[in-house]
Amino acid sequence: MKRRDIIKGLTVLPFAGGIAGSIFPYQSVLGAPSPVTRDLFKELGVRTFINAAGTYTFMTGSLMHDYVIDTIKTASKEFCLLDDLQDKVGEKIAAMVHAEAAVVTCGAFSGLTLGLAGILTGTDVNKVKLLPQLEGSGMKSEVIVQKAHSIDYNHALTNTGCKMVEVETVADVEKAINEKTAMMFFLNIEADKGKIMHEEWVALAKKNKIPTGIDIAADVPPVSNLWKFHELGFDFVVISGGKAIRGPQSAGLLMGKKDIIAGARLHMPPRGFNIGRGMKVNKEEVLGMYVALEHYLSYDHDKEWKTWENNIAVIENAAKSDRVDTTIIFLPPLGNITPTLEISWSNPGVKSKDLQEKLRYGSPSIEVMSHQDNSIIITVWVMKQGEEKIVARRLKEELTAILG
Ligand SMILES: *Cc1c(COP(=O)(O)O)cnc(C)c1O
Repeated sequence: MKRRDIIKGLTVLPFAGGIAGSIFPYQSVLGAPSPVTRDLFKELGVRTFINAAGTYTFMTGSLMHDYVIDTIKTASKEFCLLDDLQDKVGEKIAAMVHAEAAVVTCGAFSGLTLGLAGILTGTDVNKVKLLPQLEGSGMKSEVIVQKAHSIDYNHALTNTGCKMVEVETVADVEKAINEKTAMMFFLNIEADKGKIMHEEWVALAKKNKIPTGIDIAADVPPVSNLWKFHELGFDFVVISGGKAIRGPQSAGLLMGKKDIIAGARLHMPPRGFNIGRGMKVNKEEVLGMYVALEHYLSYDHDKEWKTWENNIAVIENAAKSDRVDTTIIFLPPLGNITPTLEISWSNPGVKSKDLQEKLRYGSPSIEVMSHQDNSIIITVWVMKQGEEKIVARRLKEELTAILG
């Protein structure tokens, strides 16, 4: 039976149990192979790959460490009260990141929505129930952001009902501030593109008694960024759990002032009268995030860094040849600061997309990022041990083949 026929067969599956049994490797729960030996990706025809690109949501982020998986497994065997767990874990996490309070959210994006919602409503349940309807409620409704910090993810903030007010200069900020201003928002990954840096942003806000929030979703390493921004005076900080920290991809942290976190909690499950009911994290994510963070703070980052440097050198050496113009290893100035390799060539006939596809559809499949027309970008920080050698070999093969 051809693959296409099997896919066609899926549409009649509910009426053809017996036939399905002959198509699929299992027929009933009893007859199913053990989940450990079962390769669901293969069964479903879903391509897996070596990730030489980085932590991208469309590539399912990062891989959780075994201790996170073990925690999730253990957590899944007991019931507890969700609020009780968030209280206790929040307290521990707050201490770890030097914040007044913290809560596990389902990502940095939801952390932004919840943090701003907490600022808007405080702990007034009647106000919580009104969001995203701010008009006529007496609540504030504007968020000031630098134009250079304005990205699609602003939607996390406008989800509360607020609108964004873009500024460029200090004078713009002063002019934009009014009785409706709820927050001044800062996007760390674009910090160097804006005219106003962190300290000045916070000082301007404090002078005008306006809370500040910052998105540092992809900004560890360095590990010190976990507390740096509280110390700089930001009222809340959000970070992704499923990037370098390697917690669950569906987790993140909202950290900051006690009253903001208390307000944010009212917008979260188990409560359902709010905009955050769909942003659920259960005990598995909460505890998985907690141990991921605990380990992230305790392990040897210098050693890991050296491994990354070694692995990227292995790949660079394999890529170096007369055909390739430049191979450079650099550190991105902001966001995912890990050793990054750029390989570029001058032959205009060879497009980076072509090389990307050769690697993607080769064996094993490898994902890299293409960059402009004639270069690709590789990172090693989400790879498994030994995969750097495979990437090096495949890259050399393809570069030799397509650059001639
Ligand atoms: C990844 C990312 C987000 C989204 O984070 P999630 O944890 O996936 O919700 C938001 N902002 C920036 C800058 C990011 O890099």
